Amino acid sequence: MSTAPAALATNDPVLLGFAEEVGTDGPVAVAGRRTRWTTGGTLAPDTRVIAAPSGIVEHLPDEMTVTVRAGTTVADLHAELAAAGQRTALPDRGGTVGGALAVGENDLRALGRERVRTALLQVRYVSAEGRIVTSGGPTVKNVSGFDLPRLMVGSLGTLGLLGEVILRTNPIPPVSRWYAAAGAHPRAVLETLLAPSAVLTNGETVWVELEGHAPDVDAEAARLASIGSFAEVAGPPELPVHRWSLTPAEVLSLHDTGHVIGASDFVAVAGLGLVFSHEPQPPRSVDPGVAIIAERLKQNFDPTGRLNPGRMAGGTA
Ligand SMILES: Cc1cc2nc3c(=O)[nH]c(=O)nc-3n(C[C@H](O)[C@H](O)[C@H](O)COP(=O)(O)OP(=O)(O)OC[C@H]3O[C@@H](n4cnc5c(N)ncnc54)[C@H](O)[C@@H]3O)c2cc1C
Repeated sequence: MSTAPAALATNDPVLLGFAEEVGTDGPVAVAGRRTRWTTGGTLAPDTRVIAAPSGIVEHLPDEMTVTVRAGTTVADLHAELAAAGQRTALPDRGGTVGGALAVGENDLRALGRERVRTALLQVRYVSAEGRIVTSGGPTVKNVSGFDLPRLMVGSLGTLGLLGEVILRTNPIPPVSRWYAAAGAHPRAVLETLLAPSAVLTNGETVWVELEGHAPDVDAEAARLASIGSFAEVAGPPELPVHRWSLTPAEVLSLHDTGHVIGASDFVAVAGLGLVFSHEPQPPRSVDPGVAIIAERLKQNFDPTGRLNPGRMAGGTA
Protein backbone atom coordinates (compact mmCIF):
# COMPACT_ATOMS: atom_id res chain seq x y z
CA MET A 1 0.00 0.00 0.00
CA SER A 2 1.55 3.35 -0.98
CA THR A 3 2.18 6.20 1.44
CA ALA A 4 2.84 9.87 0.73
CA PRO A 5 5.73 10.62 -1.61
CA ALA A 6 8.21 13.04 -0.06
CA ALA A 7 6.92 15.87 -2.26
CA LEU A 8 3.51 15.55 -0.68
CA ALA A 9 4.75 15.36 2.93
CA THR A 10 3.50 18.21 5.07
CA ASN A 11 5.08 20.37 7.73
CA ASP A 12 1.73 21.98 8.51
CA PRO A 13 1.77 22.35 12.32
CA VAL A 14 -2.00 21.79 12.55
CA LEU A 15 -1.80 18.40 10.82
CA LEU A 16 1.37 17.47 12.70
CA GLY A 17 -0.46 18.28 15.95
CA PHE A 18 -3.39 16.10 14.88
CA ALA A 19 -1.03 13.23 14.05
CA GLU A 20 0.60 13.60 17.45
CA GLU A 21 -2.79 13.44 19.11
CA VAL A 22 -3.63 10.26 17.20
CA GLY A 23 -0.31 8.84 18.36
CA THR A 24 1.00 5.41 17.52
CA ASP A 25 -0.85 3.05 19.82
CA GLY A 26 -4.06 2.55 21.75
CA PRO A 27 -7.63 2.59 20.38
CA VAL A 28 -8.64 5.95 18.96
CA ALA A 29 -11.56 7.47 17.03
CA VAL A 30 -12.50 10.91 15.71
CA ALA A 31 -15.85 12.37 16.69
CA GLY A 32 -17.49 14.94 14.48
CA ARG A 33 -20.91 16.22 15.55
CA ARG A 34 -22.07 12.65 16.33
CA THR A 35 -25.06 12.80 13.96
CA ARG A 36 -24.19 9.29 12.69
CA TRP A 37 -22.22 8.19 15.72
CA THR A 38 -23.55 4.62 15.94
CA THR A 39 -23.45 3.89 12.21
CA GLY A 40 -21.46 0.69 11.67
CA GLY A 41 -21.56 -0.44 15.31
CA THR A 42 -20.86 0.71 18.86
CA LEU A 43 -17.44 2.13 19.61
CA ALA A 44 -15.35 -0.03 21.98
CA PRO A 45 -15.66 1.56 25.45
CA ASP A 46 -11.95 2.18 26.16
CA THR A 47 -11.43 4.15 22.91
CA ARG A 48 -9.84 7.60 23.12
CA VAL A 49 -12.10 10.04 21.26
CA ILE A 50 -10.49 13.08 19.66
CA ALA A 51 -11.57 15.86 17.27
CA ALA A 52 -10.16 16.62 13.82
CA PRO A 53 -8.80 20.13 13.21
CA SER A 54 -11.25 22.65 11.75
CA GLY A 55 -11.13 25.67 9.45
CA ILE A 56 -11.03 26.47 5.75
CA VAL A 57 -7.45 26.52 4.48
CA GLU A 58 -7.96 27.78 0.91
CA HIS A 59 -10.88 28.28 -1.45
CA LEU A 60 -9.95 28.73 -5.11
CA PRO A 61 -13.23 29.71 -6.81
CA ASP A 62 -11.70 29.75 -10.31
CA GLU A 63 -10.18 26.29 -9.84
CA MET A 64 -13.44 25.17 -8.17
CA THR A 65 -11.65 23.55 -5.24
CA VAL A 66 -11.58 24.09 -1.52
CA THR A 67 -9.02 22.82 1.00
CA VAL A 68 -10.69 22.33 4.35
CA ARG A 69 -9.88 20.72 7.69
CA ALA A 70 -12.01 17.65 8.38
CA GLY A 71 -13.47 18.97 11.65
CA THR A 72 -15.14 21.95 9.92
CA THR A 73 -18.92 21.70 9.87
CA VAL A 74 -20.48 21.33 6.43
CA ALA A 75 -22.70 24.31 7.35
CA ASP A 76 -19.68 26.56 8.00
CA LEU A 77 -18.00 25.38 4.81
CA HIS A 78 -21.10 26.01 2.71
CA ALA A 79 -21.69 29.42 4.32
CA GLU A 80 -18.17 30.46 3.29
CA LEU A 81 -18.48 29.02 -0.24
CA ALA A 82 -21.91 30.60 -0.76
CA ALA A 83 -20.27 34.03 -0.54
CA ALA A 84 -18.52 33.10 -3.81
CA GLY A 85 -21.65 31.48 -5.28
CA GLN A 86 -20.40 27.92 -4.79
CA ARG A 87 -21.18 24.77 -2.79
CA THR A 88 -20.00 21.15 -2.56
CA ALA A 89 -21.73 17.78 -2.93
CA LEU A 90 -21.47 17.12 0.81
CA PRO A 91 -24.80 16.80 2.63
CA ASP A 92 -25.46 19.34 5.34
CA ARG A 93 -27.19 17.41 8.08
CA GLY A 94 -25.51 19.02 11.05
CA GLY A 95 -22.27 17.05 10.65
CA THR A 96 -18.63 17.78 9.85
CA VAL A 97 -16.76 17.44 6.56
CA GLY A 98 -14.80 14.46 7.95
CA GLY A 99 -17.96 12.84 9.30
CA ALA A 100 -19.82 13.29 6.01
CA LEU A 101 -16.92 11.67 4.14
CA ALA A 102 -16.32 8.91 6.69
CA VAL A 103 -20.02 8.00 6.60
CA GLY A 104 -20.10 8.46 2.83
CA GLU A 105 -23.80 9.07 2.31
CA ASN A 106 -24.85 10.98 -0.75
CA ASP A 107 -26.98 14.07 -0.50
CA LEU A 108 -30.62 13.37 -1.36
CA ARG A 109 -30.08 15.82 -4.25
CA ALA A 110 -27.18 13.77 -5.65
CA LEU A 111 -28.96 13.46 -9.02
CA GLY A 112 -28.34 17.18 -9.52
CA ARG A 113 -25.05 17.38 -7.65
CA GLU A 114 -22.02 15.20 -7.54
CA ARG A 115 -21.68 12.00 -5.56
CA VAL A 116 -19.62 12.47 -2.38
CA ARG A 117 -17.02 9.98 -3.67
CA THR A 118 -16.23 11.93 -6.82
CA ALA A 119 -16.24 15.31 -5.04
CA LEU A 120 -13.29 14.28 -2.86
CA LEU A 121 -10.07 15.10 -4.73
CA GLN A 122 -7.39 14.74 -2.06
CA VAL A 123 -7.15 13.40 1.50
CA ARG A 124 -4.62 13.97 4.22
CA TYR A 125 -5.25 11.40 6.90
CA VAL A 126 -3.37 10.01 9.87
CA SER A 127 -2.60 6.32 9.53
CA ALA A 128 -2.72 3.69 12.27
CA GLU A 129 1.06 4.18 12.59
CA GLY A 130 0.51 7.86 13.33
CA ARG A 131 1.87 9.04 9.97
CA ILE A 132 0.28 11.73 7.80
CA VAL A 133 -0.62 10.23 4.43
CA THR A 134 -1.50 12.40 1.44
CA SER A 135 -3.30 10.87 -1.52
CA GLY A 136 -5.07 12.20 -4.58
CA GLY A 137 -4.68 15.73 -5.85
CA PRO A 138 -6.66 18.78 -6.92
CA THR A 139 -6.04 18.03 -10.60
CA VAL A 140 -6.24 14.66 -12.30
CA LYS A 141 -2.70 14.86 -13.68
CA ASN A 142 -1.28 14.80 -10.13
CA VAL A 143 -2.94 11.51 -9.31
CA SER A 144 -1.39 8.10 -9.75
CA GLY A 145 -1.62 4.74 -8.01
CA PHE A 146 -4.52 3.54 -5.91
CA ASP A 147 -7.44 5.91 -5.39
CA LEU A 148 -7.19 6.21 -1.63
CA PRO A 149 -9.57 9.18 -1.38
CA ARG A 150 -12.45 7.08 -2.73
CA LEU A 151 -11.52 4.21 -0.45
CA MET A 152 -11.70 6.55 2.55
CA VAL A 153 -15.28 7.62 1.68
CA GLY A 154 -17.62 5.40 3.67
CA SER A 155 -14.77 3.73 5.61
CA LEU A 156 -16.09 5.17 8.90
CA GLY A 157 -12.65 6.12 10.13
CA THR A 158 -11.57 2.46 10.26
CA LEU A 159 -8.70 2.86 7.74
CA GLY A 160 -7.39 6.33 8.61
CA LEU A 161 -8.39 9.48 10.46
CA LEU A 162 -9.12 12.39 8.13
CA GLY A 163 -7.33 15.63 8.92
CA GLU A 164 -7.74 17.71 5.76
CA VAL A 165 -9.32 17.27 2.36
CA ILE A 166 -9.59 19.01 -0.99
CA LEU A 167 -13.13 19.00 -2.37
CA ARG A 168 -14.46 20.02 -5.75
CA THR A 169 -16.85 22.95 -5.57
CA ASN A 170 -19.81 23.62 -7.88
CA PRO A 171 -21.66 26.80 -8.77
CA ILE A 172 -24.94 27.38 -6.90
CA PRO A 173 -27.62 27.47 -9.62
CA PRO A 174 -29.46 30.80 -9.94
CA VAL A 175 -32.87 29.14 -9.51
CA SER A 176 -33.78 26.25 -7.23
CA ARG A 177 -37.40 25.22 -6.76
CA TRP A 178 -39.27 22.32 -5.15
CA TYR A 179 -42.56 20.98 -6.48
CA ALA A 180 -44.90 18.36 -5.01
CA ALA A 181 -47.93 16.41 -6.23
CA ALA A 182 -50.06 13.66 -4.77
CA GLY A 183 -50.75 10.71 -7.05
CA ALA A 184 -47.78 11.21 -9.38
CA HIS A 185 -45.29 8.42 -10.01
CA PRO A 186 -41.52 8.91 -9.52
CA ARG A 187 -40.80 6.70 -12.54
CA ALA A 188 -42.83 9.03 -14.76
CA VAL A 189 -40.94 12.02 -13.36
CA LEU A 190 -37.56 10.40 -14.08
CA GLU A 191 -38.68 9.49 -17.60
CA THR A 192 -40.17 12.91 -18.37
CA LEU A 193 -37.66 15.39 -16.99
CA LEU A 194 -34.22 16.06 -18.45
CA ALA A 195 -32.30 16.57 -15.22
CA PRO A 196 -34.17 16.79 -11.91
CA SER A 197 -31.92 17.47 -8.90
CA ALA A 198 -34.04 15.27 -6.63
CA VAL A 199 -37.11 13.06 -6.89
CA LEU A 200 -38.55 11.89 -3.56
CA THR A 201 -41.59 9.80 -2.72
CA ASN A 202 -43.36 8.61 0.41
CA GLY A 203 -45.68 6.35 -1.56
CA GLU A 204 -48.39 9.03 -1.81
CA THR A 205 -46.71 12.33 -2.63
CA VAL A 206 -43.83 12.95 -5.02
CA TRP A 207 -41.43 15.87 -4.46
CA VAL A 208 -39.17 17.16 -7.23
CA GLU A 209 -36.34 19.69 -7.07
CA LEU A 210 -35.51 21.62 -10.23
CA GLU A 211 -32.36 23.72 -10.47
CA GLY A 212 -30.68 25.80 -13.15
CA HIS A 213 -31.28 28.97 -15.11
CA ALA A 214 -34.84 30.30 -14.94
CA PRO A 215 -35.86 29.45 -18.56
CA ASP A 216 -34.60 25.85 -18.15
CA VAL A 217 -36.36 25.43 -14.80
CA ASP A 218 -39.57 26.87 -16.30
CA ALA A 219 -39.35 24.39 -19.20
CA GLU A 220 -38.83 21.46 -16.79
CA ALA A 221 -41.75 22.70 -14.64
CA ALA A 222 -43.96 22.68 -17.76
CA ARG A 223 -42.95 19.05 -18.41
CA LEU A 224 -43.80 18.21 -14.79
CA ALA A 225 -47.22 19.80 -15.19
CA SER A 226 -47.90 17.42 -18.07
CA ILE A 227 -47.70 14.37 -15.79
CA GLY A 228 -49.33 15.54 -12.53
CA SER A 229 -50.83 18.39 -10.52
CA PHE A 230 -47.48 19.67 -9.29
CA ALA A 231 -47.44 22.81 -7.16
CA GLU A 232 -44.40 24.71 -5.91
CA VAL A 233 -43.57 23.96 -2.25
CA ALA A 234 -41.03 25.35 0.22
CA GLY A 235 -38.75 22.31 0.21
CA PRO A 236 -38.42 18.57 0.73
CA PRO A 237 -40.35 16.75 3.47
CA GLU A 238 -38.84 16.14 6.91
CA LEU A 239 -36.65 13.03 6.66
CA PRO A 240 -36.99 10.14 9.12
CA VAL A 241 -33.70 9.60 10.92
CA HIS A 242 -32.64 6.13 9.72
CA ARG A 243 -31.12 5.62 6.30
CA TRP A 244 -31.59 2.49 4.23
CA SER A 245 -29.54 1.54 1.23
CA LEU A 246 -31.50 -0.30 -1.50
CA THR A 247 -31.18 -0.66 -5.24
CA PRO A 248 -32.77 2.12 -7.32
CA ALA A 249 -35.25 -0.46 -8.69
CA GLU A 250 -36.27 -1.44 -5.14
CA VAL A 251 -36.79 2.23 -4.32
CA LEU A 252 -39.15 2.68 -7.28
CA SER A 253 -41.12 -0.42 -6.32
CA LEU A 254 -41.48 0.97 -2.77
CA HIS A 255 -43.70 3.64 -4.24
CA ASP A 256 -45.97 0.90 -5.61
CA THR A 257 -46.06 -1.26 -2.48
CA GLY A 258 -46.37 1.79 -0.22
CA HIS A 259 -44.16 0.60 2.60
CA VAL A 260 -40.68 -0.50 3.65
CA ILE A 261 -40.75 -3.93 5.21
CA GLY A 262 -40.60 -3.48 8.98
CA ALA A 263 -41.07 0.28 8.79
CA SER A 264 -44.15 2.40 9.19
CA ASP A 265 -43.16 5.50 7.30
CA PHE A 266 -40.47 6.44 4.76
CA VAL A 267 -39.15 8.94 2.28
CA ALA A 268 -37.41 7.31 -0.67
CA VAL A 269 -35.03 9.02 -3.11
CA ALA A 270 -35.76 7.86 -6.66
CA GLY A 271 -32.80 7.40 -8.99
CA LEU A 272 -30.55 6.60 -6.00
CA GLY A 273 -30.76 3.65 -3.62
CA LEU A 274 -31.66 5.82 -0.64
CA VAL A 275 -34.59 5.49 1.75
CA PHE A 276 -35.11 7.35 5.03
CA SER A 277 -37.21 5.44 7.54
CA HIS A 278 -38.22 5.57 11.20
CA GLU A 279 -36.82 2.05 11.56
CA PRO A 280 -33.16 1.05 11.16
CA GLN A 281 -32.34 -1.14 8.18
CA PRO A 282 -31.84 -4.80 9.11
CA PRO A 283 -28.24 -5.98 8.58
CA ARG A 284 -27.55 -6.81 4.95
CA SER A 285 -25.57 -9.83 3.88
CA VAL A 286 -22.19 -9.05 2.36
CA ASP A 287 -20.75 -10.98 -0.56
CA PRO A 288 -18.20 -13.40 0.98
CA GLY A 289 -15.51 -12.33 -1.51
CA VAL A 290 -16.03 -8.68 -0.63
CA ALA A 291 -15.90 -9.54 3.09
CA ILE A 292 -12.48 -11.20 2.64
CA ILE A 293 -11.09 -8.20 0.76
CA ALA A 294 -12.49 -5.80 3.39
CA GLU A 295 -10.84 -7.82 6.15
CA ARG A 296 -7.48 -7.85 4.36
CA LEU A 297 -7.69 -4.12 3.71
CA LYS A 298 -8.40 -3.44 7.37
CA GLN A 299 -5.52 -5.70 8.39
CA ASN A 300 -3.15 -3.81 6.08
CA PHE A 301 -4.25 -0.32 7.04
CA ASP A 302 -4.71 -1.01 10.73
CA PRO A 303 -2.89 -4.21 11.82
CA THR A 304 -3.58 -3.70 15.53
CA GLY A 305 -7.23 -2.72 15.05
CA ARG A 306 -6.81 0.61 16.86
CA LEU A 307 -8.83 2.83 14.49
CA ASN A 308 -12.48 3.16 15.45
CA PRO A 309 -12.68 -0.33 17.07
CA GLY A 310 -16.21 -1.73 17.18
CA ARG A 311 -17.25 -0.17 13.89
CA MET A 312 -17.42 -1.96 10.58
CA ALA A 313 -17.77 -0.13 7.28
CA GLY A 314 -20.67 -1.42 5.19
CA GLY A 315 -22.04 -0.45 1.77
CA THR A 316 -23.25 3.05 1.09
CA ALA A 317 -25.35 4.35 -1.79
C1 LIG B 1 -31.94 13.13 10.12
C2 LIG B 1 -30.71 12.93 9.30
C3 LIG B 1 -30.82 12.95 7.93
C4 LIG B 1 -29.70 12.77 7.15
N1 LIG B 1 -29.83 12.86 5.82
C5 LIG B 1 -28.78 12.73 5.05
C6 LIG B 1 -28.88 12.86 3.65
O1 LIG B 1 -29.93 13.12 3.07
N2 LIG B 1 -27.81 12.66 2.94
C7 LIG B 1 -26.65 12.38 3.54
O2 LIG B 1 -25.70 12.22 2.85
N3 LIG B 1 -26.48 12.28 4.82
C8 LIG B 1 -27.52 12.44 5.60
N4 LIG B 1 -27.36 12.34 6.94
C9 LIG B 1 -26.04 11.97 7.48
C10 LIG B 1 -25.13 13.12 7.71
O3 LIG B 1 -24.62 13.59 6.51
C11 LIG B 1 -24.04 12.54 8.61
O4 LIG B 1 -24.62 12.48 9.86
C12 LIG B 1 -22.78 13.36 8.72
O5 LIG B 1 -22.19 13.31 7.48
C13 LIG B 1 -21.88 12.80 9.84
O6 LIG B 1 -21.07 13.85 10.36
P1 LIG B 1 -20.72 13.93 11.89
O7 LIG B 1 -19.71 15.01 12.02
O8 LIG B 1 -21.93 14.07 12.75
O9 LIG B 1 -20.06 12.50 12.14
P2 LIG B 1 -20.11 11.62 13.47
O10 LIG B 1 -21.50 11.12 13.71
O11 LIG B 1 -19.44 12.36 14.60
O12 LIG B 1 -19.20 10.42 13.04
C14 LIG B 1 -19.67 9.43 12.13
C15 LIG B 1 -18.55 8.40 11.90
O13 LIG B 1 -17.50 9.02 11.17
C16 LIG B 1 -16.28 8.94 11.87
N5 LIG B 1 -15.55 10.19 11.67
C17 LIG B 1 -15.97 11.45 11.93
N6 LIG B 1 -15.01 12.33 11.60
C18 LIG B 1 -13.97 11.62 11.12
C19 LIG B 1 -12.69 11.96 10.62
N7 LIG B 1 -12.27 13.22 10.56
N8 LIG B 1 -11.88 10.95 10.22
C20 LIG B 1 -12.27 9.68 10.29
N9 LIG B 1 -13.47 9.28 10.75
C21 LIG B 1 -14.32 10.25 11.16
C22 LIG B 1 -16.67 8.74 13.32
O14 LIG B 1 -15.65 8.13 14.06
C23 LIG B 1 -17.91 7.89 13.19
O15 LIG B 1 -17.59 6.54 13.00
C24 LIG B 1 -28.44 12.52 7.75
C25 LIG B 1 -28.32 12.49 9.13
C26 LIG B 1 -29.44 12.70 9.91
C27 LIG B 1 -29.29 12.67 11.40
